[in-house]
Amino acid sequence: MASKILVIDDSPEIHKLVQIRLGKEAVVIHSAFDGVTGLAAARQLRPDLILLDVEMPDRDGFAVCVDLKSDPATMDTPIIFLTGSASTEDKIRGLELGASDYVTKPFDPGELRARVRASLRSRYLVELLSKKAMIDGLTGLWNRTYLDLHLHMELSAARRSGHPLSCVMADVDHFKSINDTCGHGFGDDVLREVASAFTQCCRAEDIACRYGGEEFTVLLPNTPVEGAADLAERMREAVAKRTFICREKLISVTCSFGVASLRGPLPPSLLELADEALYRAKHGGRNRVEVCQELSSVTAP
Ligand SMILES: [Mg+2]
Repeated sequence: MASKILVIDDSPEIHKLVQIRLGKEAVVIHSAFDGVTGLAAARQLRPDLILLDVEMPDRDGFAVCVDLKSDPATMDTPIIFLTGSASTEDKIRGLELGASDYVTKPFDPGELRARVRASLRSRYLVELLSKKAMIDGLTGLWNRTYLDLHLHMELSAARRSGHPLSCVMADVDHFKSINDTCGHGFGDDVLREVASAFTQCCRAEDIACRYGGEEFTVLLPNTPVEGAADLAERMREAVAKRTFICREKLISVTCSFGVASLRGPLPPSLLELADEALYRAKHGGRNRVEVCQELSSVTAP
């Protein structure tokens, strides 16, 4: 996919020059001609890289850089300063404000391209690393860190929109005894299989996570409690249908599920509600789905 680059510079000639210099790169270039418009464009476009002129009327590049670095929406976007001055002081100031690099105008034909490529490469690697840090190594699902981050965002979105946000919590039944009887390697295989069964039941917008140990959580944006209970039931069946062979014997693996839903300006206790329902599923005999709130329990046959 083409990278988005935002150029903020008061000179139309510089915009043309950048277009020419980066014409053959896999980038889409957006233009802003002053600092204020540039800031708004950066928040809206979420570019992969910003080329920022230092000398601009009203708000100069340094002031714009400070604003970009203090806004959570733009603080991680790399900035390359475009500077007309060859003064070392200006270059140091730009780098100290958080810019990743600078290019002196007029650009050397190859230099701008090389510096843009280097910045985009670093940006890509940083994103890859931060994504990897949020993936559970065993199952490939999102991990707890990702869930915590997104729970917060999804709760705010649900409060703003008034749409329901639901949560399914699942726990593998008798997992300790599976580990004790069949070994931890087998236990890991079970967790991978359970995760794969869950993933097949989820929609693209659902956030499926390994919560920890043998516990899983799925966040379902824009889904009422009935929809979440249906999903939990499908997840339960999907796991119960899979076959597991331990020491040449067929064994069955089941999961219990707790479901909860929030709508409107409610306190952020979605996980606790789902966890309480899961607790009831465990104490009600396992291999079943329990729903918090109005819905009565959906119990396995
Ligand atoms: Mg200028």
